[in-house]
Amino acid sequence: MILIKNANVFNGTDDKLIQNVNLVIEDNIVTKITQDVVDESNADKVINANGHTVMPGLIDAHVHITMSAPFNVIDGMPREEIAIRSAKVAEGMLMRGFTTVRDVAGNTIGLKNSIDNGYATGPRILPSQAAISQTSGHSDYRQNRGQERVGQHEDSPLMKTGAFRVADGRPDVLKAVREQLFMGASQIKVMAGGGASSTFDPLDTLQYTLDEMKAAVEAASDYGTYVAAHIHTADAMRRAAEAGVMSFEHATIMDDDIAKTIKEKGIFVIPSYFTSSLIAERKIPLPNEETYRKTERVGKAMLHSADLIKKYEIENICFGTDCVGTLDVHATQSNELEAIEKVFDSITALRMATSNCGRLFEMSTYQHPYQEGKLGQLVEGAYADLLIIDGNPLEGVACVVNPDTQKVIMKDGVMYKNTLPQ
Ligand SMILES: [Zn+2]
Repeated sequence: MILIKNANVFNGTDDKLIQNVNLVIEDNIVTKITQDVVDESNADKVINANGHTVMPGLIDAHVHITMSAPFNVIDGMPREEIAIRSAKVAEGMLMRGFTTVRDVAGNTIGLKNSIDNGYATGPRILPSQAAISQTSGHSDYRQNRGQERVGQHEDSPLMKTGAFRVADGRPDVLKAVREQLFMGASQIKVMAGGGASSTFDPLDTLQYTLDEMKAAVEAASDYGTYVAAHIHTADAMRRAAEAGVMSFEHATIMDDDIAKTIKEKGIFVIPSYFTSSLIAERKIPLPNEETYRKTERVGKAMLHSADLIKKYEIENICFGTDCVGTLDVHATQSNELEAIEKVFDSITALRMATSNCGRLFEMSTYQHPYQEGKLGQLVEGAYADLLIIDGNPLEGVACVVNPDTQKVIMKDGVMYKNTLPQ
């Protein structure tokens, strides 16, 4: 048993700290949060939080762990190199305080299993496996568009390694979704419209017919889980909402009509304010001028959509970074917390990076790989995934982001960082 004493708790939901409590951790679960005295003699370890804040570990609902370089560079890498780099990316995430992530395009099940079984260090991973799109969609990463190559989807190593998958028509979409579920996907990712980072598909394209998208939702929901869609425009969002897609990635260019629908249907929205600004400022290399133009448009529109999120009081919003690139790009992950705080406020940023993600992940029901405890909340019965912060995050999230004030990182009851005075 581990005892954390003299703690103030941010539980992931409430806008007030719970003052002066003791937390009891048995194995990997928080079993007690109490203002009563706890007998220290039974504890294997006692951590004096010294009046610091204990909060749930951070959660990132939109990562690409296997994408540790620009796409065209990864496309030339041997699988082993991609895998080893991915392990390093994952370790970096945990050491920034992210104890759980949802990967939304990448073959991460092997890394997830390795981390869960102690062969690698990193966060819990909810894998989507391959992101699925139509031919000519955002997942169609064939590099050679010469006529002789058309029809050969294996042309792109990114597609060969299982980061992307192309499927057309109801039977093929059903099969592609079921393949990801068979490999262990906890949710399904589809591409429902044009992308900013891909070179050939204009942002305004609609991808997948209503029936194809419904097929994806049917195959996912028959397996107890849901579909997350890469999506930028309001028209694409209308179609995806009608098909039953429950997680809108980016959701960039909203209008009042779709904002109302998102609120009514309880669809989750995962924007990425910091990464969009980085790309708009051209700090992340993109293939060409056209992709820069697309991302600049995305960055501006996302801020307008934030106003609609406020106007319609959309509460199902989650933290997601969408970092693609080398370790220094992934290292910007925590900056999103401060970016959200600027757009909304501290409590919204904190909820988005904790309990809101926990609720999103519960839509995976029996495909959820971590069912033993709650994620994203610090309550009795939650996984012992927590941070100890020198400061009050409700007064500003900088103390969560700063490695000097982020004193303790614990995941699954195991301590990965402890800089408290011993
Ligand atoms: Zn993404």
